[in-house]
Amino acid sequence: MGSPSDKRKGKSGKKIRVSFRRNRSKRVRETDWTRRARDEEDQVLDTHRSESLSGKGSLSRRRTVIVSDKDTGAQSDLPIGIVVAMRGLYADVDDGERIRACTVRRVLKTRLIRERHPVTVGDRVRFRINPDTEGVVSEGVIEAVEPRTGHLRRYVGRRIQTIVANVDQAIIVCSAAEPAPKPHLIDRYIVASHAGDIIPIICMNKSDLETDGTIEELLIRYRALGYTAVCTSVVTGAGLDELRDILRDQASVIAGQSGVGKSSLLNVIQPNLKLQIGDIVAQTQKGRHTTTTAVLIRLEIGGYVVDTPGVKSFDLSVIDRNEYEAYFVEFVDRVKNCKFADCTHTHEHECAIKQAVEDGEIHADRYESYVRMYEEPTPPGWQDKLGE
Ligand code: GDP
Ligand code: ZN
Repeated sequence: MGSPSDKRKGKSGKKIRVSFRRNRSKRVRETDWTRRARDEEDQVLDTHRSESLSGKGSLSRRRTVIVSDKDTGAQSDLPIGIVVAMRGLYADVDDGERIRACTVRRVLKTRLIRERHPVTVGDRVRFRINPDTEGVVSEGVIEAVEPRTGHLRRYVGRRIQTIVANVDQAIIVCSAAEPAPKPHLIDRYIVASHAGDIIPIICMNKSDLETDGTIEELLIRYRALGYTAVCTSVVTGAGLDELRDILRDQASVIAGQSGVGKSSLLNVIQPNLKLQIGDIVAQTQKGRHTTTTAVLIRLEIGGYVVDTPGVKSFDLSVIDRNEYEAYFVEFVDRVKNCKFADCTHTHEHECAIKQAVEDGEIHADRYESYVRMYEEPTPPGWQDKLGE
């Protein structure tokens, strides 16, 4: 475009050489289907590439692009928005006034090659509004992504995918019955939350169905470990004010097995929610990609909640299993008392963790959760992250 702002960028940013085509030339083994999808992706990206990249002629395989040192610096004059949903190549960006379907600047994709998607739900992004959207599906281009805080990640193939970024807390929902609570699943969510720098909060829903004191016991167990745990019922209204207070002004992700009442809870917290979701879908059905793995919902009480309907459970595969002990809070102060410095707390003798389980200081369920996680088969893609 050669606008004054581009010149300014040239001064404050630095030139880097990027080979845009290299990835494509390696895609010989892809199926027709994936190749077609990629070509389509490249086409969309190409529409915008010419705007501000100074190419060295169409035959050149390398182009000089100008990016700011910290991704954001030179783009600070651009509007900022939050990504509320991802649909294939498009990110739906909410700038507080409306939601725009945006594509992602190619350079961001190239620089973050290890990430399957360089932009994800919850990301705060700088974007450029397309001046002429006629005949163009994309209404804007994401130029920069602000640094991320709390996140959930998983492996997809051999690449890491960040499912959600910039959340403060995870609301781990279970139910007293239908389905019955699964302590192991709660522990997996807790570990994934800690690994992503997210505060886990436990919500025991359907307390109206409680008959045998199971959830009462779980509440006591997790509170004793220092976690916030609430007991709710959509039917009786119990605990809903407390849950509202927890969500207010915070960035949360809601997680839990299907059927525990996540949608029901969100609907009572925000009565017009169905309408909101309807709006997002209506606004964004411009491409043929409508699958969503996470959706960000702004709350009227302040803050937002990310719902992850397409994500079955938090994937632990991005976590080194030797880190698990750090995410079991009651292990942390005890591991130094194990005889072996590299004790895995599974088969070793004179293990302080096993001793504490025997003495009733660590709950047997928690220890079992740890061992199950530790002994899980090594996930695919494991070798890739050793180099990190
Ligand atoms: P989700 O899959 O986690 O989003 O769960 P839903 O919100 O779809 O709820 C699953 C079922 O549980 C629905 O039939 C709800 O009506 C019911 N449900 C949700 N919350 C409660 C509750 O607090 N008590 C009882 N008894 N049923 C509930
Ligand atoms: Zn040990």
